[in-house]
Amino acid sequence: MASRQNESWRVPPPAGRQEAPDLVTDSESEESEDASGSDQEEPSWISWFCSLRGNEFFCEVDEEYIEDDFNLSGLSSQVPYYEYALDMILDNEPPHDVMLTDQQHELLESAAEMLYGLIHARYIVTARGLACMLEKFKNYEFGRCPRFHCEGQACLPVGTSDVPGQSTVKVFCPKCEDIFYPRSEYQCSIDGAYFGTTFPHLLLMTYPMYRPPKSAEQYVPRIFGFKLHPTAYGNREPAPARNNQRRIAAREANAKDGQQKQEDDSL
Ligand SMILES: [Zn+2]
Repeated sequence: MASRQNESWRVPPPAGRQEAPDLVTDSESEESEDASGSDQEEPSWISWFCSLRGNEFFCEVDEEYIEDDFNLSGLSSQVPYYEYALDMILDNEPPHDVMLTDQQHELLESAAEMLYGLIHARYIVTARGLACMLEKFKNYEFGRCPRFHCEGQACLPVGTSDVPGQSTVKVFCPKCEDIFYPRSEYQCSIDGAYFGTTFPHLLLMTYPMYRPPKSAEQYVPRIFGFKLHPTAYGNREPAPARNNQRRIAAREANAKDGQQKQEDDSL
């Protein structure tokens, strides 16, 4: 069932993926051609998808999990070509009467990717999904924190929104508790909703032994060895919270109006 006998899903070859620049290296595409040209068993769609460059953050979701309709509730209204996309992910034979154009195939590929991503976001907050992602975390597969004082702390992927199409995936450092862009530009284009806002925090709550002590070290800027006085840059205040910005802007505008009025009155 996992074998990719149903090549018809992939004929013409996965246009979306192959044509997307840089997603498949020359050597990788040669390998896949070799594989399809020989009797070698093809990897499942899920293994193939997770092996694409840029998709390293994804874990392989259990097929039994995907086959359970209960786990997919609500997704059919979010993903176009839902039934076909699901068949593609599960390596089910396409219906015989379905002939897809290149363009339709491309659309189906991206629908399958979106469906897998949304299933993935649900799977990685289950016990099995957390265990699978923990292994990747232990192997530094999500990268290390770029902050010097975090001493190469392993990171976890996180979304800043649970709604697809809002923002790309970031990495969360459990030591400084901040988020960063992933190192690889390929990973930078992955939708953050495929990991979700909950995952890294639930993982560290489930496995508290992997929660590092909070970083106490703080970088201190110096000029010729001297610490900078807080007023050295002028009176630089921290950026106000976003919802305060509008209020401040309004207050400044009012103040300006008042000033203008006073000037007008004095004339
Ligand atoms: Zn850090």
